Amino acid sequence: LRRSLLSSSTGPGATADGVPIPLLLNVGEGDPETAAAHDSEGVGLLRTEFLFLERTEPPTREEQTVAYARLFAAFAGRPLTVRTLDAGSDKPLAFVPVGEEDNPALGVRGYRTARLHRDLLVDQLAAIAAATKETGADVRVMAPMVSTPGEAEEFADLARAQGVTRVGVMIEVPGAALLADRLLTKVDFVSIGTNDLAQYTMATDRTLGSLPDLLDPWQPSLLSLIGTVGSAGEHLRTPVGVCGEAAADPLLALVLVGLGATSLSMSAPALPGVRHALANHTRGECLRLAQLALAASSAERARAAVREAARPEV
Ligand code: PEP
Ligand code: MG
Repeated sequence: LRRSLLSSSTGPGATADGVPIPLLLNVGEGDPETAAAHDSEGVGLLRTEFLFLERTEPPTREEQTVAYARLFAAFAGRPLTVRTLDAGSDKPLAFVPVGEEDNPALGVRGYRTARLHRDLLVDQLAAIAAATKETGADVRVMAPMVSTPGEAEEFADLARAQGVTRVGVMIEVPGAALLADRLLTKVDFVSIGTNDLAQYTMATDRTLGSLPDLLDPWQPSLLSLIGTVGSAGEHLRTPVGVCGEAAADPLLALVLVGLGATSLSMSAPALPGVRHALANHTRGECLRLAQLALAASSAERARAAVREAARPEV
């Protein structure tokens, strides 16, 4: 036990029986060199909105290429997953008009903005491909808020046409999770955004403070959808990451691995706790914890059941 505690404080993520679970960083605005200094195995979610916010015009292809290349170079040798622009709803942008909407979270946002502003996406994909070539980095690209296997296929075609070689999508909509067995055949990987997937599964606005229990990522219905995606990933041998807030909870991280997550991405402060929890549980134990959480009748009960059954080191 002593050895596992010591070896779990730094280095690559893995379960106690040695199944690698890469522990990645969520990156947004800020200095790339500072982000790269954290003990992560790469970037699991680059929120590219930081390049677009507080501007009246979108950044040019060249400006974007410079910014991406700087970040890719800072993470030299480690993989990076870049998310294309997630505009609309909680992330409105002046130069991405989507029309009047009574329910922006259910409107033109994420990948859907490409229906109206395809050039923006094409420019961004071309800039990411150019920066990848320039730096020789291991870069994957994914689209946010994809709802159907057809959209996943369409995005993959568009990205590959711009020179992106590893293409994925985020699973943030229950409809996409339910058809994971079909959707995953269209892409090289997926990453589950539990913040939005919780919002849409529980019909609860993620920006509301008044219904925290419904947005709780321990909700068994949310976990069930994650399990659907995880099973499809295992069956098709397609990597399934989790990059929403759920991945930052050490106890829940064990459940996510039990549901089939193959990598976890989080903010820097969460990395040591998740690494430590994984190092103290085998994959078989994670599977059992996931079954307990799925069988619970509320988020609170799921959390309590897993807390009771997990090793005290978490
Ligand atoms: C998510 O929805 O879980 C996610 C990672 O994306 P964002 O929080 O940026 O919408
Ligand atoms: Mg999201």
